[in-house]
Amino acid sequence: MDTINYSMEGTVFDIQRFSIHDGPGIRTIVFLKGCPLSCLWCSNPESQKIKPVIMYQSANCIHCGRCISACKIGAISVNNKGFINREICTACGECSNVCPTSSLVLKGKKMTIEQVIKELKKDAINYRRSGGGITLSGGEPLVQSDFSKELFKACKAQGWHTAIETTGYANSETIEEVFPYIDLVLMDIKSTNLELHRKYTGVSNEIILNNAKRISEISKMVIRVPLIPNFNSSMQDILELCRFTKTLNNIDTIHLLPYHTYGENKYELLGRDYLMKDSRSLKEDEIEVLKKIIEDQGIKCIIGG
Ligand code: SF4
Ligand code: SF4
Repeated sequence: MDTINYSMEGTVFDIQRFSIHDGPGIRTIVFLKGCPLSCLWCSNPESQKIKPVIMYQSANCIHCGRCISACKIGAISVNNKGFINREICTACGECSNVCPTSSLVLKGKKMTIEQVIKELKKDAINYRRSGGGITLSGGEPLVQSDFSKELFKACKAQGWHTAIETTGYANSETIEEVFPYIDLVLMDIKSTNLELHRKYTGVSNEIILNNAKRISEISKMVIRVPLIPNFNSSMQDILELCRFTKTLNNIDTIHLLPYHTYGENKYELLGRDYLMKDSRSLKEDEIEVLKKIIEDQGIKCIIGG
């Protein structure tokens, strides 16, 4: 029996209950901060840096000035572009504590394994009844690999199904240590093209493609592809993906995830520009064509998921 370090701390930015996506049954999704990629379309940009971050919703602000008085280092001023000087903000959260309209929200807080498990236990009965469990997401959960491993161990000790949403970007020791505790891997393969991958995500795909092979030997795995126009959604792109999929161990399903812009407004709240403004989603019939290509290659395909 593995010993579990219940006092280990990680940085969590959200816990969402009652999810029916991201694995079987009813699930709780635990979102961890930190990601080595910086995908241009990322719908959780608040997750990318490992340290907490403050989000400012100007539409709700009543300009009471309480946050300005609360910030001890003077990071808030109406004269700042975007209200907050993010160069000096330490994400202490004092301003969000005093804001009466929740215009300032701190994303990311330290939690111990024990605290997360206590939260997850609220839905344990649903996991049992529905065959569900927990899914670790992010960010990239493997950035906090020690915490992810302990959390998965603690979930297995409770008898819960475990899943991870991952880019697969991690060193080989991490793969060997963490994945034996994971029942289902939902792995993003964004592109098999090295140069395009680097341009759109900020990193090479070599580590990811190599790890996909090893992970498919350890855990049950599904490949997920966020369909990004002009990046990875031509017929040729999908054929290349199928070719790669066939080199993996026992992968029978690809999920095609239509591109959406749900995260767009978060960029404004973080004082950042959204660089995918002019991109359009693929039409339903265009996605159906890609699905057919995958199925013709003998691989099951689900749109969404
Ligand atoms: S999080 Fe802390 S440092 Fe940053 S603006 Fe708010 S009070 Fe100032
Ligand atoms: S405390 Fe909240 S409502 Fe008041 S000025 Fe700051 S952000 Fe606006």
